[in-house]
Amino acid sequence: MIDTGGKRMSRILIVEDEDAIADLERDYLELSGFEVEMESSGERGLKRSLEEDFDLMILDLMLPEIDGFEICRQVREKKNLPIIMVSAKKDDIDKIRGLGLGADDYMTKPFSPSELVARVKAHLARYERLVNSSVQGNDIVEIRGIKIDKTARRVWINGEEKSFTTKEFDLLTFLAQNPNHVFTKEELFREIWDMESIGDIATVTVHIKKIREKIEKQSSKPEYIETIWGVGYRFKR
Ligand code: CA
Repeated sequence: MIDTGGKRMSRILIVEDEDAIADLERDYLELSGFEVEMESSGERGLKRSLEEDFDLMILDLMLPEIDGFEICRQVREKKNLPIIMVSAKKDDIDKIRGLGLGADDYMTKPFSPSELVARVKAHLARYERLVNSSVQGNDIVEIRGIKIDKTARRVWINGEEKSFTTKEFDLLTFLAQNPNHVFTKEELFREIWDMESIGDIATVTVHIKKIREKIEKQSSKPEYIETIWGVGYRFKR
């Protein structure tokens, strides 16, 4: 064990059927302070990657039982950990790129172990940033002068707090969390009001008007919520 100063060690799963390569990868990664698990069968590798929490996976393409293509596809359906795919054949790498299976990186064997370690570190750092930003994004939405605290259900416009009704708040938050996406009034109604509620899509228009009065300098020239004529509304990023 290497002392990492209290920081949790990243866990890496290597799925590789050539022992010499798997051992080399493990040795270099362990020397760099990672915790490494290895599987040589595709079936075991797939099972463990789905059932356990790894921070990154190094996945060989040609494997007994279940190949790397299939493992990558199945893991991607459920998990977003970085996957680095390795293959002895350059052609195969080109093929998997083309398939868009969702691997984050590709390496052709033989590669230098230090190159592998560098890529692992880069992907883990990127993944950590991604996870941290989405955690923060769960609480606070900030776009230009608008700040929405979803937990406290409070909204500030250029530093000044404004009050919103429940539905106004839900509608504004939904639009601000999906900027640049055009939603029809029907979609917004379905999203914010449950189907049992009284009212119709005109309710959406009324609420947009009220929100604009609070967030826009001039309701007639909205800077945030645009009307897309004949379609619906869009929150400008
Ligand atoms: Ca292989």
